[in-house]
Amino acid sequence: MVENKFETIFTMDTSRIKYGPGVTWEVGFDMRKLGASRVMVVTDPNWTKSEPVSITIEALQEENIEAVLFDQVRVEPTDNSFRDVIKFANEDKFDGFIGVGGGSSMDTAKVANLYSTYPADFLAYVNKPIGQGHPVPGPLKPMIAIPTTAGTGSETTGVAIFDLVTIHAKTGISHRALRPVLGILDPNNTRTVPKIAAASCGFDILCHALESLTAIPYNKRLAPESPELRPPYQGANPISHIWASKAIEMVSKNIIQAVQDPSDDKSRAEMILAATYAGIGFSNAGVHLAHALSYPVAGMVKGYIPEGFKSDFPIIPHGMGVVLTSPAVFRFIAKTNPELHLYAAQLMGFDISGVDKKNAGDIIATEIIKLMQATGIPNGLNAVGFEPSDIEELVKGTLPQHRLTKLSPRPASAEDFKHLLAESMTLW
Ligand SMILES: [Zn+2]
Repeated sequence: MVENKFETIFTMDTSRIKYGPGVTWEVGFDMRKLGASRVMVVTDPNWTKSEPVSITIEALQEENIEAVLFDQVRVEPTDNSFRDVIKFANEDKFDGFIGVGGGSSMDTAKVANLYSTYPADFLAYVNKPIGQGHPVPGPLKPMIAIPTTAGTGSETTGVAIFDLVTIHAKTGISHRALRPVLGILDPNNTRTVPKIAAASCGFDILCHALESLTAIPYNKRLAPESPELRPPYQGANPISHIWASKAIEMVSKNIIQAVQDPSDDKSRAEMILAATYAGIGFSNAGVHLAHALSYPVAGMVKGYIPEGFKSDFPIIPHGMGVVLTSPAVFRFIAKTNPELHLYAAQLMGFDISGVDKKNAGDIIATEIIKLMQATGIPNGLNAVGFEPSDIEELVKGTLPQHRLTKLSPRPASAEDFKHLLAESMTLW
């Protein structure tokens, strides 16, 4: 193959999706169709006694499928919590997996499936440069994802994210084979989420969509040496563009209402659908700088616990960590394609007629900040416990996130990360 040849191909992979109030009851039917007889149901302790979990188990039993509950998922998983679930999965024989909960539960179920199907050293499948980045050797056992928060889009992605404790950095495992075969989206499952968690998840959706829309186009990246090595995060492409656009519109219209009034079934239903739209887009295109910067931000949390958030340890919820740097990120990259950024602002409800495209970055940053203010998101990194003296460490934690930073449409150096983080200390 000629060296430095640009990519000419993109792919469109996604999970099957079932959507509708009450659809969780169909999980038994679907698992039976997939041929499973003993299924591991993976969730976190906050959801053990919840309806989504009890309905899942009952629905499996009704189809004569044995259900074994693992409820020790760590919210924001670590390599240790992943090792625990792998051990549990290896001590039994499962022929199907279900993740019920937020991204953490779905990601943990993916990992249980991977390492019990193709046992390996823990770092074998972990993304380079932290792990060895080995591709998944073959198909996995069927896995169904049932999100109970409208955010991560993990039901559509082949990605599992965790915190490698020894280096305080988030990394992940990423391969098409990890993708759930089915995502069950039941708006009834997202009723009981605390306000700040709903807001944080909403901004995760928005950033998935905005980052995948603005990622470097797939045909501006080098072609892989073989189809096997084509990454799932392949850059913006015409199909991901459609899904991301629609998701930006849906989130911007519904996030405030869904956060302020969890009993509003209509906006909550729109948010869970938007999470999946954004998931279909970003799982084929990728996300870039705001996500890359969020990983050290979450990993280096000091004492912060959001108000009303159930957690025994300090935590910056994923979507909150992402959105805090997003205004600076879009200011930084907008000049690579101002028209596209204005288009995004328009999708967010901003009237772009007669605006100077030089201001595209500021316009979109302002639109994001308005939504943050309306939904109770803290005012920048400083408000969640960081000082300017932390910036150097945060930059160090961002540098290994190549998989994401290289998807930025504007190349970003350590010096650029420093500026982005400094600008994100206080937002308004
Ligand atoms: Zn995310």
